[in-house]
Amino acid sequence: MPIATVNPATGEVLKTFDPTPDGEVDAAIGRADEAYRALRGTTVAQRGAWLTAAADLLDAEAEQIGRLMTTEMGKTLAAAKAEAAKCATACRYYAENAADFLADAPADAAAVGARRAFVRYQPIGPVLAVMPWNFPLWQVVRFAAPALMAGNTGLLKHASNVPQTALWLAELFHRAGFPAGAFATLLVGSDAVERIIADPRVRAATLTGSEGAGRSIAAAAGRHLKKTVLELGGSDPFVVMPSADVAAAAEVATTARCQNNGQSCIAAKRFIVHTDVFDAFAEAFTVRMAKLRVGDPMDAGTDVGPLATERGRDDVDGQVRDAVDKGARVLVGGERPDRDGWWYPPTVVTDLTPAMRMWAEEVFGPVAGLYRVSSYDEAVELANGTALGLGANAWTRDPDEQERFATDLDAGSVFVNGMTTSYPQLPFGGVRNSGYGRELSALGMREFCNIKTVWVGEGGAPAGNAGAGAHAE
Ligand code: NAP
Repeated sequence: MPIATVNPATGEVLKTFDPTPDGEVDAAIGRADEAYRALRGTTVAQRGAWLTAAADLLDAEAEQIGRLMTTEMGKTLAAAKAEAAKCATACRYYAENAADFLADAPADAAAVGARRAFVRYQPIGPVLAVMPWNFPLWQVVRFAAPALMAGNTGLLKHASNVPQTALWLAELFHRAGFPAGAFATLLVGSDAVERIIADPRVRAATLTGSEGAGRSIAAAAGRHLKKTVLELGGSDPFVVMPSADVAAAAEVATTARCQNNGQSCIAAKRFIVHTDVFDAFAEAFTVRMAKLRVGDPMDAGTDVGPLATERGRDDVDGQVRDAVDKGARVLVGGERPDRDGWWYPPTVVTDLTPAMRMWAEEVFGPVAGLYRVSSYDEAVELANGTALGLGANAWTRDPDEQERFATDLDAGSVFVNGMTTSYPQLPFGGVRNSGYGRELSALGMREFCNIKTVWVGEGGAPAGNAGAGAHAE
């Protein structure tokens, strides 16, 4: 994929970039390693001050960086500015809470024959971050903020269609005060990733992206024994049960499916509705989807802009065509407009069967699959019926069902009567083919820490843990 800014609203190539040569990549890794050694000597308070300065820059420049994101990947300007604000919130969250998250955690010293025993969280070094274009700031900041606070450094390989946002991000952390090299952008293609992972100075890798990229990066990391965190795709179920507030569910369903022009990993994609409320939900949802305004993403009145890439738009179109050819019914949308740029309208498709691609594949655009079920068990079976398990939504006012959904839905998060969202305060990640590991909260920060056990004895003979019953491993 060429490294270039292509306006998805028009298809116009605005700027192209040559890939960073290997020699410069190696030099950037060297600077990241030096910056790691420098960061280890700084206090959490110092790093927090720099991260707070980054938050202030994100707030002050939200309009500028928002326009850049909209130009590069087509999200509405309003959504882009909200993304910058969310990044600022996450930076402040980690600046304020990192001292607690990184504090030594005492263990039961007496039980292990020690005078003192505790866990210490320490940084591990430069981490490679391979990131997608869909939330070009947020995906990066939710990795970078905890990583830098922990004392790690970051090397960003961003998606090839958001190079200017990637360069802005590297500048952001440097302007905020972090040492040179603490966070660098490498303008490289995916073919350069294994070489970077192989470098002994790079200690770990994190990917947010597709299943295919996940398999490839995990395999490379396995060959070089590097830890990975993988945030992959989702085909989140949105279950509506008879006790649900159907109007509220339909309202949230529309946003949950079409936010970010339908290109969110945790977008609700499969709407699984109990037969008692199916017709009411289908009607309310279809009306709302039809009302969404599709247009120039820079306009304040636009709800849905273009898809980010031509290939992405063609994929979505192909999935809908495949379903229709095999007997599915389109309730609204479903026709790719004949105009420049990568457009696709909000669409609802029903009467889906397992023979259709949409049944099991993630649809990365504003297209909802609508399914009818007749019982709780059928809803859960269908909800869990793909290989993915990122988020899940359930709408019910029955407290017993709420509890059961929380347990039975096989996903990294379950949101009941509300939209699946990422918050700095809550861990985020998936199960099964949606990946492994967690981002955000204290858990996300500790993914890239050396969780070090420290055992301190009295110092007299014999050593406290070497008596009868002790085992060396
Ligand atoms: P993608 O093709 O996997 O791209 C994501 C990143 O991985 C890009 O930087 C890309 O570089 C790189 N990449 C692709 N193939 C690679 C390979 N074989 N080896 C190394 N790097 C590789 O993802 P996408 O299709 O653009 O993005 C949409 C996918 O991301 C969806 O499946 C979505 O659900 C998922 N996603 C998941 C989350 C989450 O938090 N779980 C969040 C957002 C998106 P190039 O651009 O140079 O190809």
